[in-house]
Amino acid sequence: MSLKYCQGPKCHTYHTKDRLKGIKGSKTYQTRRRSSMYYGDDNFCSMNCWNDWFNKYGDQAIDHFGRVNKVKHLTEDNAWVKDYDYNYRDDNPKSNYRSVNTITKEQRPLTESQYDDSTYTLNER
Ligand SMILES: [Zn+2]
Repeated sequence: MSLKYCQGPKCHTYHTKDRLKGIKGSKTYQTRRRSSMYYGDDNFCSMNCWNDWFNKYGDQAIDHFGRVNKVKHLTEDNAWVKDYDYNYRDDNPKSNYRSVNTITKEQRPLTESQYDDSTYTLNER
């Protein structure tokens, strides 16, 4: 089991018992390590650490990946979302995965692999 490090830039500065580690007499507050983190897509040990990261790096990250600088419009061309029927029964051969257009309400069937593929979409980009 490999441990992940909390990516919070100030994680080690918070005085909690579980962060205090080391040999008796020379203990230090340390960055939290866990097999999984609960926040920020498994990168941060707490909301605090997630916020600390954003406060320090958020502007740079937004500038790097592209800042929204004009209004976006929801239209028929980009209103497709993936949907799944949770009442699906195994004896029903019809696909329970589908794309639904939230404007026109049109539905189109999806395969399970299309549903699971985070890059697959009917939306125009
Ligand atoms: Zn942390």
